[in-house]
Amino acid sequence: MIEQLRHLPGVGPKTAQRLALHILKRPETEIRTLANALIEAKEKVGLCQVCFHISADPICEICRNPHRDFQVICVTADSCDVIALEKTREYKGKYHVLGGVISPMDGIGPEQLYIQPLVRRVSQDKVKEVIIALSPTVEGETTTLYVGQLLKPFTKVTRIAFGLPIGGDLEYADEMTLTRALEGRQEFK
Ligand SMILES: [Zn+2]
Repeated sequence: MIEQLRHLPGVGPKTAQRLALHILKRPETEIRTLANALIEAKEKVGLCQVCFHISADPICEICRNPHRDFQVICVTADSCDVIALEKTREYKGKYHVLGGVISPMDGIGPEQLYIQPLVRRVSQDKVKEVIIALSPTVEGETTTLYVGQLLKPFTKVTRIAFGLPIGGDLEYADEMTLTRALEGRQEFK
């Protein structure tokens, strides 16, 4: 159990041990509920066919929502970034989740990410603005430049302003910082 828990992000050996001991102390019914919830989520939740955000339906709630501006697309690395941006309640456009960032060290090139579907979306729909919202890490920067160059012929491309700490992670930024980062976005050069 400790070995398995250690595979989770942010869980080191000590935390894994603490979680395992906690789980052992709980009643069996509670543990079954937890185990079933994990399996059920894995079985039911997939990716939205349009934006690649996690979704229980083929098309996610945000893509289906007619009140959201389909002419603005915010590009993020992962679904947790979408969740973080949604918490600000400031953004009313749609999203596109890349499924990671370009990272040659980890063997992740552009073709491993959902970049082509994004280019297709932007070139086919009447998209007025693409906001690139990737973490200000080396990999995030590389991906921002790559995606920005690809999309520039089709639409206005902006990137969120960083107020976010350099090397910091988008998903850990507080709502105020994210709101300011969105408001202060700048046109991609
Ligand atoms: Zn979607």
